[in-house]
Amino acid sequence: MRNPLKRLIFNSILCIFIAAGTVISFGNVTKDEIEAKADSVLQLLTLEEKIALLHGNARFSSAGVERLGIPELKSADGPTGVREEMERHSWEPLGLSTDSATFFPAGPALSATWNRNLALRYGENLGEETRARGKDILLGPSVNIIRTPISGRNFEFFTEDPFLNAAIAVAYIKGLQSRDVAACVKHYAVNNQEMYRWRIDVKVDERALREIYLPVYKAAVQEAGALSFMGAYNKFRGWYLCENDYLLNRVLKKEWGFKGVVISDWGATHSTGNAALHGLDIEMGSRPEDYSDYYFADPLLKAVQDGEVPLSVIDDKARRVLYLMFSCRITDKDRHTGSLCTPDHFKTAYDVAAEGIVLLKNSESVLPLNPKKIKSLAVLGENAMHRHAKEGFGAGVKTKYEIMPLEGLKNKMGDRIEINYSQGYRENYIYKDVGRRWKLRLPDPTPDSLLIQEAVEIASRSDAAVIFAGSNRSIESEAMDRPDMRLPFAQKDLIRAVAAVNPKTVVVMIASAPCDLTEIDSLVGTLVWGWFNGSESGNAMADVLFGNVNPSGKLPFTMPYKLEDSPAHALDAYPGNADSVVYKEGILVGYRWFDTKQIDPIYCFGHGLSYTEFKYSLMKSDRKEYGMKDTIQVSLRIENIGNYAGGEIVQIYMHDHEASVMRPVKELKGFDKVFLHPGEKKTIKINLPVQSLAYFDDQNMAWVLEPGAFEIMAGASSRDIREHIQISVQ
Ligand code: BGC
Repeated sequence: MRNPLKRLIFNSILCIFIAAGTVISFGNVTKDEIEAKADSVLQLLTLEEKIALLHGNARFSSAGVERLGIPELKSADGPTGVREEMERHSWEPLGLSTDSATFFPAGPALSATWNRNLALRYGENLGEETRARGKDILLGPSVNIIRTPISGRNFEFFTEDPFLNAAIAVAYIKGLQSRDVAACVKHYAVNNQEMYRWRIDVKVDERALREIYLPVYKAAVQEAGALSFMGAYNKFRGWYLCENDYLLNRVLKKEWGFKGVVISDWGATHSTGNAALHGLDIEMGSRPEDYSDYYFADPLLKAVQDGEVPLSVIDDKARRVLYLMFSCRITDKDRHTGSLCTPDHFKTAYDVAAEGIVLLKNSESVLPLNPKKIKSLAVLGENAMHRHAKEGFGAGVKTKYEIMPLEGLKNKMGDRIEINYSQGYRENYIYKDVGRRWKLRLPDPTPDSLLIQEAVEIASRSDAAVIFAGSNRSIESEAMDRPDMRLPFAQKDLIRAVAAVNPKTVVVMIASAPCDLTEIDSLVGTLVWGWFNGSESGNAMADVLFGNVNPSGKLPFTMPYKLEDSPAHALDAYPGNADSVVYKEGILVGYRWFDTKQIDPIYCFGHGLSYTEFKYSLMKSDRKEYGMKDTIQVSLRIENIGNYAGGEIVQIYMHDHEASVMRPVKELKGFDKVFLHPGEKKTIKINLPVQSLAYFDDQNMAWVLEPGAFEIMAGASSRDIREHIQISVQ
């Protein structure tokens, strides 16, 4: 609102409303109008009121401006369901009976669907649950790149690939924010390991930063309009992320035009002046008992009074907070009120769970199980019964329900077949002294021969056996990485023994990060990847195993044969020492490394089978030559040539034939998911902006597209390229 007269009238009306104690509603307003509103309200605030907006006043809130009817800004943890209500000043749950939420599938499960519509629904439903709980900000999504298979929070992240990451995150954020909730995109940035996360200095070259780690954040700002970011615990190039001028001020705010708020991770603020000047807006979760001792409370007031921090910096921060508040309509009467645990939400949880399940291998076509032939089923393994909503360190979901596999199988098939369960292995832990104040808690691999014997006995008299193996949320957890990729507990012994007596043995992995599958892969012909799959996990799994749902998920990360094959470990670039870690692999993260270095993974990025088969043909581009600003329209025909209806994820990779710099053998640049009945065919079209083929030139700090020949490939996975074409860029 540039016109001074209009502005004056606006401000007068604002004051009248505020004076009358009326909540101001702006209905469908534009971003400019929200900015103008934030500007106007800012003018009404005292310095103390502005500063109060900039730090926590409780564990999960910061102050509003009571005098003006602006409520506190309240947040709750995500990212896979709204965390239960906590005590105002501690980490203790309040123990309410009204705050159960839907448990949505883990981050990689969502990206394994490669389905933007599902990610949108996931976000919308989470937004509704966040509003029903009276919160303004959901602390999610967690979008860090899966750099190493053993990072503790891989179960929250989406993928190892920047394009898939951005596609899923953008849809999630748009969905969430459409319900008057601000996303808090976390953890910005390069927080790719839990080991030493509190202080480790991440050294990553600019090209890798721009090509691998930052695209998701840029898309969150520019495509999804994300309203807040969470500054990570770690450092980047010597500076803590919550006082990192380069990443906060220069890249996020200036270069990308971010108008929202940078919120510190809980306890990630380390200074007043630097943090204030270098781009942090709200400090949360710091240690002092008294909130006025926070860096951004009394010390910040003093820094302003002493002239160390200019008032304009405080104004900018307060304006951002108001912008976020008004963008999610915090004072509007007709703001979304939300809903919790509705049938729709559970339906989304089911759909994501079902579409994210990955059929890794089905070499003897044991799946889908045919209830006409399979009259008795042995269900084995602790993970058939284990709930994953809430365990380990950090946020979990107190969910209304979580259907586990055994329950799902009984729900769906219990009246048609005989189901016998045996635990098979015990979830015991051993504690290893690591010379610190705490001990390392490791899964105990000792087999329990009685349990194995019982499982073998059941399996040998059943028509088929399904073993639920994998990990759990105390093994994959915030604040600690896994020591290795080993299959935990005595799962291998169980699988070996059962596979020896029942040729129809299916192994289902319930885990959300890569595991060592080498040995079990040689023991069984059927492998399914299940994830921590949310409230409807067991129902979705039963439907996939019995063919009511045809699996269509594809891996969002590479499953290496062994940890040492993956780049950070091959190059001894993990975990670094307690002070720093150098990302020596640069841009060669995930399949970019495996393809370029010609290392075979056991299951590659983008892999996932179906009960049907798809034929790819007639791949074309709309032209052969393109200018720098053009868009390449790729089309190809996909045909379902099998007997089941099903979905196929068509992945578009590119290779630059004439690059003057090293480029990976393949880079994902597009994808589409198509559902086809048997015999049905469809021509799909995928647009690739020519600019998306560029690489980042760190000498000139610019994206560069070199003219020349490019190969565009269509694959059913990163290693199953079915069609390819050449184009050239002038
Ligand atoms: C985590 C964040 C989380 C915050 C508040 C931190 O330990 O890193 O992801 O949002 O706690 O619970």
